[in-house]
Amino acid sequence: MSSPEAAPGDDTAEVVERYRCHVNAGLASLFKFMGFDAVEWKAEGSTIWDTEGRDYLDLLAGFGTLALGHRPAAVVAGVRDQLDRMPLSSRVLFNKPVSDLAARLAAILPGDIAKSFFCNSGTEAIEGALKLARLYTGRPGVVATEGGFHGKTLGALSVSGREVYRQPFAPLVPGVTHVPFGDTDALAAAVGDSTAAVVLEPIQGEGGVIVPPDEYLPAAREICDRAGALLIADEVQTGLGRTGALFACDHSGVVPDIICLAKALGGGVMPLGAFSSTPTIWACLEENPLLHSSTLGGNPLACAAGLAAIEEITRNGLPARAARLGDHALDRLRDLQAAHGDMITDLRGRGLLIGVQFRDADVAGLVIAGLAQRRVIAAYTLNNPEVIRIEPALTIPEADLDRGISALADSVEQTKGLLAQLD
Ligand code: PLP
Repeated sequence: MSSPEAAPGDDTAEVVERYRCHVNAGLASLFKFMGFDAVEWKAEGSTIWDTEGRDYLDLLAGFGTLALGHRPAAVVAGVRDQLDRMPLSSRVLFNKPVSDLAARLAAILPGDIAKSFFCNSGTEAIEGALKLARLYTGRPGVVATEGGFHGKTLGALSVSGREVYRQPFAPLVPGVTHVPFGDTDALAAAVGDSTAAVVLEPIQGEGGVIVPPDEYLPAAREICDRAGALLIADEVQTGLGRTGALFACDHSGVVPDIICLAKALGGGVMPLGAFSSTPTIWACLEENPLLHSSTLGGNPLACAAGLAAIEEITRNGLPARAARLGDHALDRLRDLQAAHGDMITDLRGRGLLIGVQFRDADVAGLVIAGLAQRRVIAAYTLNNPEVIRIEPALTIPEADLDRGISALADSVEQTKGLLAQLD
């Protein structure tokens, strides 16, 4: 595929140099190391074009943000309509996109979750959820999971589970205990009468795409109920169809007390996050409605995007499509693993959240670089660099998904050859 139009302006070297001097020199080196030495310019669906007119197949979808692909027409139209009338809110008058989105979410969220607070990112959604749990229960403690990823603001980082990101910022928020993900006994032992909440991802994304045993979420629900603690489901990455159900909690029928969304919620056009809960729990935020607030969170542009995104995801049956394409991808990847068991040590996933576990992080890095050479965009999971994620748009054409998996197979072969030369 060639670029629909040429890109004007700076050449790649100038942009990289400005990143080095004015953004973050380490980030510039990291992009280059992974083989992504190009400047993005334009995108449509699962294709990105760089400033030199080269096309890339996107198997990463902005770390799961682009559930509808790049520039989905219905979301762009909804945002454009709002842009032409009123992009940002007065913050004192009632705002229709906020009310519409909150009501639409209430209709699709599990159980009797019916009230939402809108913010701009996943980490802010987690901050709000943690504050709400403390406020409602009057307790300080939080139990979180090893390998869990919840964001990088101080509260969300405190409940995340990878030391390399946590340790430089210690001391973090007190009262947090981490337990192994998927281990019901460890969870039961850690939750007590000072626990405000258990926070977990129904399927860990950045931890390396870890699907817990079927009984784990129902057990977590029971443990929380017994202790009077709240269950916070972090569905920032899994929410809105990614795992083959509208919410990953739906696979087990578990209804959390608080649910966090972001990424796909903005339709791949606007930054948008939310935390939502039941009217009973929410009441503690209503006595003083300014106890938790955000000037820019839930702005009309973002809410217009959210409304259009939910409409597109539900109307087009994208959760079911993700389930079907995910099964297909896993079948093909199983063949690849069978052929290269010395390189690929495990395969995990549900829907279009798939993790390919390599024998070490260096091998995974070389495979990503090989994909970059083939102009296929992929990345490792942040809390487990041995795992390459296959996380495309839920709308990716099946032929493109197949092309991406073939490129992965070629890159694994190439990496094997490289390693053999080094032996
Ligand atoms: N929670 C989960 C499960 C995530 O995967 C992420 C980001 O990857 C976050 C929270 C943080 O979201 P953000 O990067 O928008 O702050």
